[in-house]
Amino acid sequence: MAPSHCCVPGCISGVRNSKIKNERKVSIFAVRKPALAKSSAEKAHREQLTRFVLSMRDAASGDCIKEMLQKETAAICELHFMPTDIVVHGKFKTLCQGAKPCLHLPKKSSFTHPSRKPPVARVAEEPRKRHNNIIDLQKSFKQLPEFLKG
Ligand SMILES: [Zn+2]
Repeated sequence: MAPSHCCVPGCISGVRNSKIKNERKVSIFAVRKPALAKSSAEKAHREQLTRFVLSMRDAASGDCIKEMLQKETAAICELHFMPTDIVVHGKFKTLCQGAKPCLHLPKKSSFTHPSRKPPVARVAEEPRKRHNNIIDLQKSFKQLPEFLKG
């Protein structure tokens, strides 16, 4: 059975009656079984795509993604690949070997973000009020609203 739609969460390529404006035919590339690859490079690529799909889906929560991979019905659509990774043969398109999905992906993915991102620069907080001595502190304390003095 040929895959009918893209298995990237949130992607509706191939889903019938999708409401995509200017809908065009999006090519879908089946994720093939690494074990059946004809060359080691092909096998490595298939393994990479298999890992990608597994990282996107949560097989532990009842997702049948492993079964889909087993049946080769899991697929990734062309929207997730760089246009340069896609080879057009007339009406058909194929993936370049080694092409890695990198576009329109859910943010949360161990595949696209294998390690933690560096911390985002924080907006400087307002400097805390410092007191040079106990008298200053007492003055500030007196200015506090009653309910805070408790
Ligand atoms: Zn897709």
